Amino acid sequence: MPEEASLPPAKRFRPGSCPPGRRVEMLLAAGGGGAGGGRRHTPPLAQPSASPYREALELQRRSLPIFRARGQLLAQLRNLDSAVLIGETGSGKTTQIPQYLYEGGISRQGVIAVTQPRRVAAISLATRVSDEKRTELGKLVGYTVRFEDVTSEDTRIKFLTDGMLLREAISDSLLRKYSCVILDEAHERTIHTDVLFGVVKAAQKRRKELGKLPLKPLFFPQVIVMSATMDVDLFSQYFDGAPVLYLEGRQHPIQTFYTKQPQQDYLHAALVSVFQIHQEAPPSQDILVFLTGQEEIEAMSKTCRDIAKRLPDGCPPMLVLPLYASLPYSQQLRVFQGAPKGYRKVIISTNIAETSITITGIKYVVDTGMVKAKKYNPDSGLEVLAVQRVSKTQAWQRTGRAGREGSGICYRLYTEDEFEKFEKMTVPEIQRCNLASVILQLLAMKVPNVLTFDFVSKPSPDHIQAAIAQLDLLGALEHKDDQLALTPIGRKMAAFPLEPKFAKTILLSSKFHCTEEILTIVSLLSVDSVLYNPPARREEVQSVRKKFISSEGDHVTLLNLYRTFKNTGGNKDWCKENFVNSKNMLLVAEVRAQLREICLKMSMPIMSSRGDMESVRRCLAHSLFMSTAELQPDGTYATTDTHQPVAIHPSSVLFHCKPACVVYTALLYTSKCYMRDLCVVDAEWLYEAAPDYFRRKLRTARN
Ligand code: ADP
Ligand code: MG
Repeated sequence: MPEEASLPPAKRFRPGSCPPGRRVEMLLAAGGGGAGGGRRHTPPLAQPSASPYREALELQRRSLPIFRARGQLLAQLRNLDSAVLIGETGSGKTTQIPQYLYEGGISRQGVIAVTQPRRVAAISLATRVSDEKRTELGKLVGYTVRFEDVTSEDTRIKFLTDGMLLREAISDSLLRKYSCVILDEAHERTIHTDVLFGVVKAAQKRRKELGKLPLKPLFFPQVIVMSATMDVDLFSQYFDGAPVLYLEGRQHPIQTFYTKQPQQDYLHAALVSVFQIHQEAPPSQDILVFLTGQEEIEAMSKTCRDIAKRLPDGCPPMLVLPLYASLPYSQQLRVFQGAPKGYRKVIISTNIAETSITITGIKYVVDTGMVKAKKYNPDSGLEVLAVQRVSKTQAWQRTGRAGREGSGICYRLYTEDEFEKFEKMTVPEIQRCNLASVILQLLAMKVPNVLTFDFVSKPSPDHIQAAIAQLDLLGALEHKDDQLALTPIGRKMAAFPLEPKFAKTILLSSKFHCTEEILTIVSLLSVDSVLYNPPARREEVQSVRKKFISSEGDHVTLLNLYRTFKNTGGNKDWCKENFVNSKNMLLVAEVRAQLREICLKMSMPIMSSRGDMESVRRCLAHSLFMSTAELQPDGTYATTDTHQPVAIHPSSVLFHCKPACVVYTALLYTSKCYMRDLCVVDAEWLYEAAPDYFRRKLRTARN
């Protein structure tokens, strides 16, 4: 046990203040015409039903702060085209607003869309709301996430990831299906939500111009931007001065504590805090810890389990559950279930649990103040994941997770002074990641000029130019009368729900007669890891994996694994023996089938290379030539185009090898810039793939 573990929290933490107040234009608060409470046009809520569970749900709905403002809210929203709605986390925005709109008849003219930045949020919210509405998931209330659509003709309230709504906008830029689009968790500023602001605004304007459109909802807001904490003025101005509705009232109070001293080691500090709480609080009060990524979380989970086993009698047993995006969804779901009686649930999560979702039982939040986020440098063309400080907005969101079901406590593992130095808002993702995907999508939507697209926060022109250059190199663009347009290849690329470079890989595969293999590889890269690596059984894992390992790299290794999986008929026991995540493998098969379907629709010939891995590697070299690195005389690696130092990630099968030239599919920045998922290629293939590109880069390097 770490030494400080016996110190009571009060000795180490200072109480903090509440979130800063906000300027508001309209208050919706207690006393303002509740359900059926006098407001003329407000339809009543359904009466509680006989089942005790249903009754409890209904009572819970009625006890939310938002419920008191229901009548007022609906009356306001009826008369607005757009609105910005802010309210404390837990007040009931995400689960209730769509239902109020539905109950108010707004979905008669079209579906109500609610976007979420994350897949797990979209699914769990749809499940919750369909429960509250006492309907089967996929009927009245449904969800759409990448590669999974649980909606039907009857669906009126649809939760979907922001990325999926953007995809839908490619086939119908007016979003005619929808009477209302709720852009939730706007403060997160994911790249997709940011682009959606522009797309939805344009659709709204166009629909107004086309006033005769039968589906135009005349009386209802088409766009509601929601969040607990956000730059209200920015959004209000962007939507032509949309009114800001402020929901008063937090459901439950939360106490916030800071450390007295800065913490050198946030992992150690988190561990100490968890066990302090564990030793003092009743076992029914669960803990949510925010860390940065899978490896850290798995390691911390193991340490917690080990320590928990050795605690003195009288300490309750601990159920430690990791939560991160690449964890299979079935395992993610475990965090939502209650712990067995007498156990304390400790959830160790990335920022995936920061917004939207409600995890039952959480009373304590331990916030390390760290997050892994994307950073992009248009000069080097490198997009890396790096660990950094959260913004104040994110910190408040994390704190809010402690007060969803009752009063809560948040321990911040940083001092109040440190907190004051955090960025106020999260820098929009659009300003810190590669824009190739977005530009391709905008062009597919036939946006006339991507350079002048009405972004809420403009990415730098360099950034846009870098993306255009990249798409150009992939053969997606043509320049027509000073206007950018998609080539036939570009249009085909946009049809795949994939990053442009992977779409291009699939399209190129027919030339190399290896579409079957490439479809498998791209599918494997599109879902969460199929490899299950329990740290406690590292040696066992290494020994069973040996038979799949290929000296040609990770992609070919994964391909071998998938093939054997298929040959065993998707056998679960085989997966267990080989430390393969069977659920994710099945998902790979599903994704693959969907991608294959898109190829067939394009009449692409689908051939197999029949064991010839060189053509597979050639295909990867020809499409991913912008993500390659070469061995340097001193034994290190540098990217081929801009000569940035990079290293092979320890998880790669090539970690102990020194191939002369590799293609990688992701970069991760921790102590160094690491390449993940590697494939050995021949440098000549790269020059053959993009001779002008490399000639130009060489010239720049020499100068
Ligand atoms: P907001 O969007 O304002 O943060 P939500 O509408 O998501 O709030 O949730 C409001 C409240 O409803 C939560 O604080 C919680 O008490 C309850 N709730 C929502 N989802 C669930 C769930 N899946 N299980 C249990 N309670 C839930
Ligand atoms: Mg919400």
